Amino acid sequence: MDQIKEHITSWMNDHANNAIEPGSDVHAFSFPLVGIASAEDSLFDFLKSDIGHEFYWTPQEAFSLAFKDESVRADELSVIAWILPQTEQTRIAHRKAEALPSIEWSKVRHYGEKVNENLRRYVVDLFTSEGLQACAPVLLPEWSGAVSEKYGFASSWSERHAAHACGLGTFGLSDGLITPAGKAVRVGSVIVRKRYSPTMQIRPYTQHNEWCLFQATGKCLACMRRCPAGAISESGHDKTKCKEYIRNVTAVYVEKEQLGFKVNSCGLCQTKVPCESQNPLNRKIFPPREKL
Ligand code: SF4
Ligand code: SF4
Repeated sequence: MDQIKEHITSWMNDHANNAIEPGSDVHAFSFPLVGIASAEDSLFDFLKSDIGHEFYWTPQEAFSLAFKDESVRADELSVIAWILPQTEQTRIAHRKAEALPSIEWSKVRHYGEKVNENLRRYVVDLFTSEGLQACAPVLLPEWSGAVSEKYGFASSWSERHAAHACGLGTFGLSDGLITPAGKAVRVGSVIVRKRYSPTMQIRPYTQHNEWCLFQATGKCLACMRRCPAGAISESGHDKTKCKEYIRNVTAVYVEKEQLGFKVNSCGLCQTKVPCESQNPLNRKIFPPREKL
């Protein structure tokens, strides 16, 4: 079980698990990245107090809820997070989209998230089969949306924040997580009752937003120019404008013109931007795989 990354990669390599739609031989996602953090990491306590003390879970709280066990200690738990990058094919298709999402993106938003859900279940089952307790916080019945006084729309457990704690990336101006594989990604996590060594003893960043070009250099704003809703500005991401555009425009479009049912698909700010498929500050380490 110490080969967790290999298990996840192998599972994702199987078309039966990782398809852009049922029965397709096209993958929903490219190679996953995996990171591990100790539940004792003080960043989890900071996230709780910063996002919303009354509703945001630490790993210990999520695990206690899952197993109705108040005795569990943070030093017994590890958080495992993964990044599922959009495929090059989906990114190329989405770059051509202007105000409405590509059908590839909409399929990944719907069927790809089911892949992500199944991966959470797979990882939990894998640990369980080895006699270890594990849970996926976002699959718990108690997981819910909430409103943060400081940040607006939030939830009891954020996959992106878990991945950030696991050393997998920092936040961009548009609120997406910029990972070594870029920002066009989906994210998942589980908590297991076993101490694993964190992937990195020291995270490769100290600020929550330091891989964003605009934050680092004062230049970029490509995501702001890409957003058809005017939901991104130099001050950040307006979640209300974003949500309204998706609900009133793109979800309706997906139902009428693409999949026959509503999907919260958009993500235009995640492609045709310098952070689409790489950390934009690390071009020499992760060179662009194709021109934007
Ligand atoms: S497009 Fe530029 S400003 Fe927007 S998140 Fe990416 S690096 Fe930051
Ligand atoms: S998801 Fe769409 S509406 Fe929301 S910020 Fe990104 S581009 Fe704008």
